[in-house]
Amino acid sequence: MPEALPVATIRTQVTVPLAFPDGYSTTARVFTFKGLVDGREHLALGLGDWAGALDRLAVGGEAPLVRPHSECLTGDVFGSERCDCGPQLREAVQRIAETGGFLLYLRQEGRGIGLYAKLDAYALQDAGLDTYQANVALGRGEDERDYTAAAQMLATLGVPRVRLLSSNPDKEDQLTRLGVDVVERILTSVFLSPANAEYLAAKAAKAAEIEAADALAGRTPEQPR
Ligand SMILES: [Zn+2]
Repeated sequence: MPEALPVATIRTQVTVPLAFPDGYSTTARVFTFKGLVDGREHLALGLGDWAGALDRLAVGGEAPLVRPHSECLTGDVFGSERCDCGPQLREAVQRIAETGGFLLYLRQEGRGIGLYAKLDAYALQDAGLDTYQANVALGRGEDERDYTAAAQMLATLGVPRVRLLSSNPDKEDQLTRLGVDVVERILTSVFLSPANAEYLAAKAAKAAEIEAADALAGRTPEQPR
């Protein structure tokens, strides 16, 4: 059975016009919350006709498109090419805006280890470790991200069922375990650059590893572990 989630409430909601450096623009309804388990300042962005998507969901229609995006200062803000976070965020905003749904902006920098530790891990990657090995060498988990607050935000917004925009099977596994009905996982595009090729290869290998373990355990999104 899914774990019972502590109840969170909406603290504030405001409209924020977004304009990206490439000229794309849209409008977000930004939600903040009270009662998120880790006490961090996570955001939910309602994009496109998110209200219509909630109405359709309430009468048993299609689940809204949702992307949990973990904060990456270097990629999201400065356009770092060591990862693909910036282009993934940009793609997700547009894809969600086109159909109506939510982007969850999760304050778990560097797979949850924090900004300075992420940069320490980059130094180790320059010495030959991959992105997961580097975190472990720092005494941290390969991936410390936790989607409990994301599940809480979805529950608070009235989104028990999602079409998940993510290439990461761990997000689907965790959200399913937390009681979110993931009806479909839609892969993000691959944004390859010379600087992020090894990083993307490590990520793809990790995703395959998780999917293989899930298959061995007979887990599917419909069967919460
Ligand atoms: Zn990044």
